[in-house]
Amino acid sequence: MLKRLELKNISKSYFLNDSVLNVIDDISFDLEDGEIIAVVGPSGTGKSTILNIITGIIKPTNGEVVKNGCIGYMFQHDLLFDWRNVYSNLFVGLEINKKITKEDEEKALKLLEKYDLIDFKNSYPKELSGGMRQRIALIRTLMINPNILLLDEPFSALDSQTRIKISNDVYKTIKQEKLSAILVTHDINEAISMADKIIVLTKRPAKILKVYDIDLENVTPLEKRSNLKFNKYFEMIWDDLS
Ligand code: ADP
Ligand code: MG
Repeated sequence: MLKRLELKNISKSYFLNDSVLNVIDDISFDLEDGEIIAVVGPSGTGKSTILNIITGIIKPTNGEVVKNGCIGYMFQHDLLFDWRNVYSNLFVGLEINKKITKEDEEKALKLLEKYDLIDFKNSYPKELSGGMRQRIALIRTLMINPNILLLDEPFSALDSQTRIKISNDVYKTIKQEKLSAILVTHDINEAISMADKIIVLTKRPAKILKVYDIDLENVTPLEKRSNLKFNKYFEMIWDDLS
């Protein structure tokens, strides 16, 4: 099986004036092609730090990350530019690296069609709902043709109902585009409904406490929530985190 990411004995400490803050303590795991891994753990334990180490924004104190593929990153806030319309927002990111081609423009239109957003092509972010903005941010991430998607609490700014709907959409997109993904979340239900595997972290310094293979039928996140096994996973992970 192709491994998209290999995290090998990652540790991270911050050296402050006269003290050391150990944030991550010897974390190793692999992300296989097509797999969705959810990382759950208490707030402040180092989840975002792990994603930043994967992208290379932060250097680990020890250990290494082996990458096989192009990485797209999606944050809690959509980071759309208010002064650009939807269509033009899709080229932010691409523009940094190259000149926009005819193919890029065609791809943007195709993605907007595919994900039912074409009618909003000329709208400005302010005119759209939070959920819709998040879907546009995802399409923008797809413009760089990523193989690996890193999602850092991407739904936390949304109300609970929108959140479930958007996580359903994002899940379908990940599967349709055959991406591999790491989803950081503190929402246990979200993790169970979306992930093939859940990594539970301890409080800081973050170590791997448990790993769960989520064996629910291969249906949408919404449908998974009504599977009887769903609550069993919830109870186990809830106990781990309490
Ligand atoms: P999480 O995403 O799990 O909430 P983070 O990865 O954002 O946690 O942060 C983990 C810990 O590292 C926090 O306690 C935070 O205060 C600390 N931290 C993050 N960046 C720095 C930094 N540049 N210098 C010192 N401490 C930092
Ligand atoms: Mg975080």
